[in-house]
Amino acid sequence: MTTAAELREASARLLQETELTLPSLGLVPTMGALHAGHAGLATAARAANDVVVASIFVNPLQFGEQADLERYPRTLDADLELLGQCGVDLVFAPSAAEMYPGGEPQVRIRSGPLADKLEGAARPGHFDGMLTVVAKLLHVAQPPGARFRAYFGQKDAQQLVLIRRMVGDLNFPVEIVGVPTVRASDGLALSSRNQFLSGAERKAALVLPRALRLLEGRAARHEALDPDSVLEMLASERSVSLDYLEIVDPETLEPLAFNCRHVPFTGSALAVIAARVGAVRLIDNVQLGPE
Ligand code: AMP
Repeated sequence: MTTAAELREASARLLQETELTLPSLGLVPTMGALHAGHAGLATAARAANDVVVASIFVNPLQFGEQADLERYPRTLDADLELLGQCGVDLVFAPSAAEMYPGGEPQVRIRSGPLADKLEGAARPGHFDGMLTVVAKLLHVAQPPGARFRAYFGQKDAQQLVLIRRMVGDLNFPVEIVGVPTVRASDGLALSSRNQFLSGAERKAALVLPRALRLLEGRAARHEALDPDSVLEMLASERSVSLDYLEIVDPETLEPLAFNCRHVPFTGSALAVIAARVGAVRLIDNVQLGPE
């Protein structure tokens, strides 16, 4: 489907065909260039809902530089094939003109202080653009007379926190489901950016999941997290330029590193990391302690 009207009509028809009093619809928003991480979201949505819709839209509002937007990989045929294999019923792949018929929207979602730090500090305006398009996609896909769930990856931890916050703060009638990060067999979190890494860069990038696993192990054993030793490990990989490694509260994203430094770890936290490997910026995170 390329228009909101087509999507609404087609999803209403499929929901009606279920003949259930309260069917459910699961939405999986993506920007395309799909991989097994996205398939994880689609599979989770398929397992829990009567009708599954995926969207593919490279959202201009969330890109800082025009060049970055133009360089974003577009692989529609392969994406449709993968979504079909996952049992997705409908794909919404609108043009920019369909999503923003009046040009750049004047009224937008403002993401607030949760977006000032971490990824937001590195990418000004990114989260406002992301939340604005997610709000629009949730409105377009909202099924009347059905339960509504939307699926997002834990890989983009700050994005997930912000979406939950928007949905709560603004009373969107949707349940947000976070799906665990899918990794390659070497531990690297799957990302459409990984294809831009050379062989040597990819090997170097493995220090990111290694660092997170180290923290995860210490947290599970209730040892001190000792982030300094992890920073040393990251610094030893010369081609990896660390942007941040933080241990934060999973809801407020406020740093907890000071408390975690030398005392045995208890409670729950999120370890978040971002680094540049060659020209590619990678992010990853891991939950410490129970969710
Ligand atoms: P994107 O197309 O990169 O905007 O991502 C679309 C959705 O897929 C987002 O909710 C991401 O968090 C999720 N996603 C991307 N990579 C992964 C991964 N490796 N594991 C799980 N979810 C992912």
